[in-house]
Amino acid sequence: MGWFKRDKEGITTSTKEKRETPEGLWEKCSNCKTIFSSDDLEKNFYVCDRCNDHERIGSKEYFKVLFDDGKYKELDAKLKAGDPLKFEDTKKYVDRVKASQKKTGLVDAIRTGKGKIDGEDIVIAAMDFAFIGGSMGSVMGEKIARAIDLAIKSKCPFMIISKSGGARMMEAGLSLMQMAKVS
Ligand SMILES: [Zn+2]
Repeated sequence: MGWFKRDKEGITTSTKEKRETPEGLWEKCSNCKTIFSSDDLEKNFYVCDRCNDHERIGSKEYFKVLFDDGKYKELDAKLKAGDPLKFEDTKKYVDRVKASQKKTGLVDAIRTGKGKIDGEDIVIAAMDFAFIGGSMGSVMGEKIARAIDLAIKSKCPFMIISKSGGARMMEAGLSLMQMAKVS
């Protein structure tokens, strides 16, 4: 039983008067909780202008900020993790990857791209912590190695934005091999 009783029936708010905030248009500073429009936060490079807190951003936002006009050619965008070990902890590895892809809209924990900064060619790799803690499995290792190869071939700089929890445990030895490959 409720504590209060509605004494007038049929009270409704017309659609015109409803004040709903469309999803994704507003963001809250994770430190001081000030609310900003997504556009304002982006214009301020994801730094809160009240308390100077730096929001965590993903590869997509980094690329938009870093590359001239936010334009770049994404490299190996479809490279997907395999599961040769048929690994399973509290969840199957394949299911974990699928769930992460659904949640983040990413294919794996790193995005690589070639574009320009101030008119000069550059290859950038940026990790995404939101995807299984930015862990390095075979996809990340391969994408970094290929991006570095392209930078060498194009005689242009290579930049990496590292935000990783470490090796991806679910790929065990295959993950550790990536360290050697990238080095
Ligand atoms: Zn703030």
